[in-house]
Amino acid sequence: MMRKEYFMEKVAIYPGSFDPITYGHIDIVERALEIFDKVIVAVAHNAEKRPLFTTEERRKIIRTLFRESPNVIVDSFKGLLVDYVAKTNARVILRGLRATSDSEYEFHMASMNRSLNTHLDTLFMMTSKDYFFVSSRTIKEVARLGGGVEGLVPDLVTRLLKEKFKLPIPKKNQIGWDD
Ligand code: ADP
Repeated sequence: MMRKEYFMEKVAIYPGSFDPITYGHIDIVERALEIFDKVIVAVAHNAEKRPLFTTEERRKIIRTLFRESPNVIVDSFKGLLVDYVAKTNARVILRGLRATSDSEYEFHMASMNRSLNTHLDTLFMMTSKDYFFVSSRTIKEVARLGGGVEGLVPDLVTRLLKEKFKLPIPKKNQIGWDD
């Protein structure tokens, strides 16, 4: 009798605000690609958080940065994460862990998501040491005050932050979305 072999694609969902995406996030995606066949970066459409970048802008930035990675899919979602995940073929929610302050909140979220959908697991990846203290929030605070965020976010993000905060853009950072 012939046995059918099913190939199950391993897909992870990496949800977050990504307002804006930093090298910390990018590092997690790149390392996840070593484990999963596909990573769906899911931008949370969360109006209460009053994001600096619109959902569409955040998606567009991420899509541009991963334009050469066909295994990275960029999407956005509204409402409950578990409802969104159920519509995909992912079984794993991926989260990054930075300094210890992340862990309590993440533990609550992971337990809650698991009780909402027992088929789902949350996988935590520890951040690389270089990005331990990088957060979108601090990046925005520093950029708003005119401080340098080079090396912590891609050049495209540095330029867009300067545009948002109406700060002068140095020549070398004058790159477009599609560069
Ligand atoms: P949220 O608003 O859901 O916290 P974020 O965009 O801040 O979303 O982060 C999304 C995920 O990426 C979270 O799991 C967060 O802990 C993780 N993350 C954020 N910054 C870093 C970083 N510098 N290194 C590793 N993981 C990070």
